[in-house]
Amino acid sequence: LHNRPILISKTKLENEKLLLVTQDMSASEQLNQTRADFVANVSHELRTPLTVLSGFVETLSDMPDLPNEQRQEFLALMQQENKRMLNLIKDLLILSRLEHVQQDDKDKQAVDLSELARHIALDGKALSQGKHDFILEIEPNIWITGVLLDLQNALSNLVFNAVRYTPDGGNIRVVLRQDGTHATFSVTDTGVGIAPEHIPRLTERFYRVDKGRSRETGGTGLGLAITKHALAKHGAILQIESRVGEGSTFSTEFDLLR
Ligand code: ADP
Repeated sequence: LHNRPILISKTKLENEKLLLVTQDMSASEQLNQTRADFVANVSHELRTPLTVLSGFVETLSDMPDLPNEQRQEFLALMQQENKRMLNLIKDLLILSRLEHVQQDDKDKQAVDLSELARHIALDGKALSQGKHDFILEIEPNIWITGVLLDLQNALSNLVFNAVRYTPDGGNIRVVLRQDGTHATFSVTDTGVGIAPEHIPRLTERFYRVDKGRSRETGGTGLGLAITKHALAKHGAILQIESRVGEGSTFSTEFDLLR
């Protein structure tokens, strides 16, 4: 076992035979560590907005004569922190459902990926509020088998990220095309880009290249983890190509409905 520590459990079977069960301890220790890190991350992510909120509550109750304008400003900031927590809980629930609920093929249905891609691109355009040029190259009538909600979560994260990580005036291109027996979906932006050393870690929960920017644009740090899991349920893999300062392409391939 490559010199790794192992755990051996003994169970006595009939006729005095022994059943030895070995377990790779380093793998289970690693899992425990990952779980502990996750709980620590979630606690930290919740503590930050809660600390901000409790500060505002204290100020508002200590200063009953605060000018109305300032009071409104504080309330708006409190609302923003509240929204941050709600988004985090929403993403945690999505992730937990993806990780724990075993889907089988009967949960899947025929999905019009062209329609879905068009809707998601238009939602991205609405989020951008005219600050980016959107280019849609979506072939019609491309169908796959899948779970609509999971596909929607997976692909919308890519389009929303393109908006959030692309400075105003940049381009966002959403492409869906059919290649033989596959459908390829991609989102290309002319945004901040990602250095090569970060790319393999982007789908880890709470991994962010720039914490400040993620927070500023309302990110939970869970988007790409959700995308990866949801795509995996459809046999699809997330591909990431990027150059710092030039932009990124996030793409994936699905089997077509036969
Ligand atoms: P977040 O909520 O922080 O955006 P994600 O899981 O969606 O979390 O993304 C993880 C990190 O990947 C982001 O914090 C950001 O650093 C990087 N990232 C994701 N999409 C892009 C993009 N289109 N351009 C540049 N960086 C990106």
